[in-house]
Amino acid sequence: MTSFKIPKTHPRYESLIKREKIIDGFKAGIVAHAGLIAHGRGEAFDYILGEKTNEFALVAERAAVAKLLLSENPVFSVNGNVAALAADEVIELAKRLNMKVEANLFYRTEERIKKIVDLFRERGLEILGEKPDARIRGLDHARALCTYEGIYSADTILIPLEDGDRTKALREMGKYVITIDLNPMSRTATTANITIVDELTRALKNMIKLADMNKETAKETLQNYKNNKIIEDALSFMSERLHELGNGKIP
Ligand code: ATP
Ligand code: MG
Repeated sequence: MTSFKIPKTHPRYESLIKREKIIDGFKAGIVAHAGLIAHGRGEAFDYILGEKTNEFALVAERAAVAKLLLSENPVFSVNGNVAALAADEVIELAKRLNMKVEANLFYRTEERIKKIVDLFRERGLEILGEKPDARIRGLDHARALCTYEGIYSADTILIPLEDGDRTKALREMGKYVITIDLNPMSRTATTANITIVDELTRALKNMIKLADMNKETAKETLQNYKNNKIIEDALSFMSERLHELGNGKIP
């Protein structure tokens, strides 16, 4: 753990803890250089969102749980940032929704994959990804590697903090893609079937609470879900919030 002690009374305690987790993950070889930059990008959007789960996120989280419950082979794809920030929540949600977990990296190195697999193993979960035997079509070699048992044969993939090209390639393979991404304008956010505009750990905690949904409710929830509307709501919320703050409503 970090040597720097963050006082619980700090107004942005949660955010600082996450930042420290990313730094620790980087030092441990789990988070890539670009993962540090991606985290900062996420923080900036979270500031605009008010660092809380908004209604449009909760609606998407409910739809995501519904879809995962109704899927045959749902897979949770994790990268270095996800492992560093929320391994316990990933494990809990995967167990509750019967999902396989696969380590899948944009900047794939065998070393980092092994570290992520070991991190989950130490916490009692065996995950896929160390021995890829299939490829995501349309991507170059290292970025395409995946396992047949996991991502390749999945019907639904929960893939937070993902790159736009890979999301597009998964959609083109016919996968149903659910993402968690603080930037509603990213290519991933606009390409996914379900876009959760919320911070990773907050979203997963909410989804764990929703996981006891029954299948009837799940079907109804999905029928009424419209992802474009969710993205529009997220963007409207952000612009209205900035507008209000700009009109003298800074607390
Ligand atoms: P894209 O490739 O989809 O157009 P990008 O290149 O900006 O977007 P990537 O680095 O490929 O982004 O993916 C990381 C995404 O994850 C970013 O949109 C970033 O805002 C978001 N992000 C980073 N940290 C978090 C977090 N803790 N929770 C949710 N989203 C996050
Ligand atoms: Mg990208």
